[in-house]
Amino acid sequence: MRRFFVDPAAVAGDAAALTGSEAHHLSEVLRLTPGTEVELFDGQGTIYRARVERLSRGRVELHVLAVTPPAGARPHLTLGVALLTGKKMDLVIQKATELGVDAILPYVSRHCSVKERNANKEERWQRIAVEACKQCNRPVPPHCPGVTDFATLIASARADRRIVFWEQEKRHTLADLLPAAAPPPASLIALFGPEGGFAGGEIDEAVAAGFTPVSLGRRILRAETAVISGGAILQYLLGNLAQG
Ligand code: SAM
Repeated sequence: MRRFFVDPAAVAGDAAALTGSEAHHLSEVLRLTPGTEVELFDGQGTIYRARVERLSRGRVELHVLAVTPPAGARPHLTLGVALLTGKKMDLVIQKATELGVDAILPYVSRHCSVKERNANKEERWQRIAVEACKQCNRPVPPHCPGVTDFATLIASARADRRIVFWEQEKRHTLADLLPAAAPPPASLIALFGPEGGFAGGEIDEAVAAGFTPVSLGRRILRAETAVISGGAILQYLLGNLAQG
């Protein structure tokens, strides 16, 4: 079934309306007609099954047939991702959204090649997250605020467990930190460095702020590979890839 993002304010009782790009996509791109059933998600966890009723210029009216309320609590995963070059952030945001990551915090660290904030990119990341939600049937997009800096991020990180992925770490692996037999933490934040890695001193600063360095094995992964594979392993260990 085709999925569309609906503004929660545009749902009233059993009536819902799509406007803007979502209405355009439904009526002009997909050319759906009255009577077609679709799924609507409101970005806050509620999913609606709805039937297209009327199409008019820039607006689609729908009749809500069924409502699925937000799912219950599960471990909350945040990824702190140092700004990457080219389209790698787009890829990372798309894949982290598909994996069900709750928040993606882009940040600038000393070895980042890209250091400046870019409002156009930040808006594009939001659109990529919404599109990925539609594709993977996820009701709530990840929280993805504007770019911050490393010092602010580690000082403000609030999570039960804090880790930093570091290719030089020799002691801790994910299996040690999140043993399968122990209940998972309610929230976890994981930091990933840029293409140039963490600068001398940044790992010490993170440790002083309560982060534990963790290895993903002896091979040095590309930054985007580390985020996507690390995110997938964490979601598995947190129990967030289970059915139901
Ligand atoms: N500049 C570093 C070098 O050449 O040694 C490599 C940095 S790596 C391309 C980018 C980021 O991916 C790192 O900062 C780290 O967060 C993560 N990463 C890559 N391989 C890793 C590994 N084996 N274990 C833990 N983290 C890894």
